[in-house]
Amino acid sequence: MNDMSSARADTMKYYSPLARMLSPYVAGEQPQGGWIKLNTNESPYPPSPRVIEAIRNAVGKDAAALRLYPDPDADALRDALSKRHGVNRGNIFISNGSDETLAFIFAAFFAGLDCVTPAVGYSFYPTYALLFGAKLRLIPMVDGLNADVGGLLNADAPIIIANPNAPTTIALSRETILDTREALAKRSQLLVVDEAYAPFYEDCAVANGCARYDNLLVVRTFSKAHALAGMRVGYAVGHSNLIDALCRVRDSFNSYPVDRIAQAAALAAAEDVETLSRIVAAVSEEKITSRQALLSLGFECAHSHTNFLFARHPRVKGRILFDELTSRRILVRRFDKPGIEDYLRITIGTPDEMKCVIQALTDILKETLS
Ligand code: PMP
Repeated sequence: MNDMSSARADTMKYYSPLARMLSPYVAGEQPQGGWIKLNTNESPYPPSPRVIEAIRNAVGKDAAALRLYPDPDADALRDALSKRHGVNRGNIFISNGSDETLAFIFAAFFAGLDCVTPAVGYSFYPTYALLFGAKLRLIPMVDGLNADVGGLLNADAPIIIANPNAPTTIALSRETILDTREALAKRSQLLVVDEAYAPFYEDCAVANGCARYDNLLVVRTFSKAHALAGMRVGYAVGHSNLIDALCRVRDSFNSYPVDRIAQAAALAAAEDVETLSRIVAAVSEEKITSRQALLSLGFECAHSHTNFLFARHPRVKGRILFDELTSRRILVRRFDKPGIEDYLRITIGTPDEMKCVIQALTDILKETLS
């Protein structure tokens, strides 16, 4: 054993074999103040005023109720979401962020089993696969950064996919998703669609009415278009058999994962579709402007169906762009993964923030390419 590995063995000496072999997800940094923060796809706009009011009440006039555990099933929130998606209460599962739903999905449906996902996708999936002993296979992308639907189906295993995909920003059509589901149903295999970004492109979404299929489970979040990342609420929509499986896992882990304040906030957000539409419209408009500006600087940048852009410059390394932006206190995300290492994932901020980003990139390119 060399020095490095013996030091590592020492720090891990009390760890279980499971803890030793985990490969934790590295979340985007959350620096405090003084940054243009475009690294975790949060909303640049605040949540609905109704959300603020609901939180005030939860910690004000209703605060005495905080002595009690919250509703384990979050029924009021499930009722609001079931109306939105045209399903029943029993078709909705609420969790502490959608990451928790995703973790429970791996435990409930994939633990110890085969499953597949596009090679460029949400990097928490491989982490959950390790945690729960799922054999997750990564299917290479085609034509650049497009998911290979044929390849995924040929793998003959349940599929988990983000649609629109992250970090690529590219969406499969609703028809493609539904055809894929049908093909999987013939083999009794599950399709999980992570629709974290679907509010920015509802045309591709299958959440509404998805409960009629027993092999389609859709995951959504309040963190992005609802501007509630700080509250940590996510949910699944699907057939009641699938929802029951998620409840089995939850109740084997933590019966009350979503606190009273978060439930009140998410309920108010779910009921305020006007604010949701306003945020989506503002972000979408700024996204078009920012993409145009990036294209005129020579960046390659696909048309985005999310609240972020994924761009690379053919002549400047991603690492250099990332470091230069960071030194100007602009935080974006870069993944040190073969094939996408030169891309920057840039969350759409306010128009002022995006002007600063474009100006900074203009300056960096001038310095680097001169
Ligand atoms: N799915 C995708 C594709 C994401 O990008 C994210 C955000 N990192 C999540 C799920 C998780 O979001 P949250 O846990 O905040 O609901």
